[in-house]
Amino acid sequence: MSKGNIGVTSANIFPVIKKFLYSDHEIFLRELVSNAVDATQKLKTLTSVGEYKGELGDLTVRVAVDKKKGTLTISDNGIGMTAEEIEKYINQIAFSGAEEFLEKYKDDASAIIGHFGLGFYSSFMVSKKVEIFTQSYKEGTTAQHWSCKGDPEYTLEDTIKANRGTDIVLHIDDDNKDFLEESKIQELLTKYCKFLPIEIAFGKKKEWKDGKNVETDEDNIINNTNPAWTRKPADLTDEDYTKFYHELNPMGEDPLFHIHLNVDYPFNLTGILYFPKIKNNIDMQRNKIQLYCNQVYVTDHVENIVPEYLTLLHGVIDSPDIPLNVSRSYLQSDANVKKISSHITKKVADRLAEIFKADRTAFEEKWDNLKVFIQYGMLSDEKFYERGEKFALLKNIDGKYFTFEEYKTLVGENQKDKNGDLIYLYANNSDEQYSYIQHAKDKGYDVLIMDGQLDVHVVSQLEQKFEKTRFVRVDSDVIDKIIVKDDAAQVSLTDEQRDALVTVFDSQIPALDKTNFIVTFEQLAPTSNPVFVTQNEFMRRMKEMSALQGGMMSFYGEMPDSYNLVVNTAHPVIEKLLADEETACGQAIAPYVNELALAESEKAVLKDNQKGKKDEEIPAVEKAQVEELEKQIQELTDKKKAVLKSFANDNKQVRQLIDLALLANNMLKGEALANFVKRSVELL
Ligand code: ADP
Repeated sequence: MSKGNIGVTSANIFPVIKKFLYSDHEIFLRELVSNAVDATQKLKTLTSVGEYKGELGDLTVRVAVDKKKGTLTISDNGIGMTAEEIEKYINQIAFSGAEEFLEKYKDDASAIIGHFGLGFYSSFMVSKKVEIFTQSYKEGTTAQHWSCKGDPEYTLEDTIKANRGTDIVLHIDDDNKDFLEESKIQELLTKYCKFLPIEIAFGKKKEWKDGKNVETDEDNIINNTNPAWTRKPADLTDEDYTKFYHELNPMGEDPLFHIHLNVDYPFNLTGILYFPKIKNNIDMQRNKIQLYCNQVYVTDHVENIVPEYLTLLHGVIDSPDIPLNVSRSYLQSDANVKKISSHITKKVADRLAEIFKADRTAFEEKWDNLKVFIQYGMLSDEKFYERGEKFALLKNIDGKYFTFEEYKTLVGENQKDKNGDLIYLYANNSDEQYSYIQHAKDKGYDVLIMDGQLDVHVVSQLEQKFEKTRFVRVDSDVIDKIIVKDDAAQVSLTDEQRDALVTVFDSQIPALDKTNFIVTFEQLAPTSNPVFVTQNEFMRRMKEMSALQGGMMSFYGEMPDSYNLVVNTAHPVIEKLLADEETACGQAIAPYVNELALAESEKAVLKDNQKGKKDEEIPAVEKAQVEELEKQIQELTDKKKAVLKSFANDNKQVRQLIDLALLANNMLKGEALANFVKRSVELL
């Protein structure tokens, strides 16, 4: 028997291991199982080159828990180790470089501490004692027993071991008893070892018999040794790809497409990426790409390895060329990682372009589920935009799809306004905006549907990309104002009539929470609606952006929604309303109108006099006169308004017209809606 000190230059590395690896300490199991797998594969290699001529036998790696003894054992039938090899690989080599590494990353808690290749020694994170029982494949060697209690001292002695290979026995410490739970180990093996290339058995398969779970003779193999990404694309059918997808996402819906990645120069990369159906919330879909290193699971956080929008994809990337023993922030600047990232991006874009070209119908069918991903890519990556603009689609209200180019050809001439600006009309809710869509269609215009999570941003992006093009939502104004063809017909109202109608309508608009209305006039076709509600495009977009981004933009978010109540002065109903108002109120307001005109002109004369004078040069008497006139004007205006309001109150048509406009905009709710129904019945 020999005793010795593990070759570490600094006094004791064990407390460091425990402390540093705390958050990730379950990875010890991955490290030990991969060592067992490596040892087994080395033996297979030796056999294939004729250096080992013995029987290979059963090569299954076995994991076993003994709760009573408090041990977890990982056994393999691999190459094993001689006493010299233990000396070299366990006692010395394992720590060369480790100290330097710890020094470098001791302040960077976010570094992928778990992957710094302490491998075997990570077992001390959960053990009070670790033993190795090993018999080398080499003839004439004696089995060895190594034991260490988590301090730099170890013992190494000859022992007797019946078969070739290595058993690693962990005596689990009191703080880590959960690693003696079968369910915990099963979970960890499934997480980390699911696709290792040598079979891993954890106990026996269980069977439901006579009302209880009983063990069968069959090994409980936890891994698929030959996962789809390691096979040749030519050997795989679409079903194989879908089946493999469900191995990764047992609960997931079938994916839309897949991409098989396979590169061996200038870096090594294999993998399969799937386009999932993306429903509403893109944040829910993240972290479904698993990163492997030679079939060993590393992480499902790949956000520093691929661009953010690609993290919406699902699947597997396997690359030994992604450095794992570095901090996350460093990853992004690593040359290999950069190459890998741009390779994947290119592959993804190529694949989409290829499907689009080969089967446009299938592509269109999947577009609605795919679009968030493509839009996200195009918004966040200029290169992806350049590729995507050839296959990204716009969908119109009738469910037809167009490429950017096609759509431009479709509306290019028809939807140009008098300044030569091309107007893309869109709706984001075909039910709520139905009447506006209909008005646009009646004009022979096409309307896009932009109801996706990212469409607000897409609209802004495309406005910047397309020349002389604006996107306008159909309900942001009356259609002839959105696409202004020639100089629009002038509203033929006198100031007096205009004032009267503003008061009449203003007084009857129901109070809605955080909502303002401004009464405006348009001379539209007599067949068009008498009253509309529209919302200014700019203000609405600012509010939408602020809802998405907060921060700087929240100023807009705080503001009430501002709508226009557009009165069509050419409509017969409005013409009649105006005539009725003049008949009903003309006499009553005539004296106020006259007096107002008088007061206004007196005030105008005084003001004219004061022009160019400094405040102190104006006599106090004159100031008082102006003040008096202003008071008078206010009173007269109020009196005039009172007459008009009283007319409006008694005229059910005004409320009815406003309510119809609100109804067409889906803004009539609750009590206001009930009142409308009641009033409609009365009017019948
Ligand atoms: P790494 O696996 O990264 O080299 P480890 O500390 O995990 O580092 O292991 C150190 C060395 O010990 C391995 O390279 C291998 O030579 C040897 N070793 C570890 N486990 C086994 C095993 N189960 N069978 C044979 N050799 C092993």
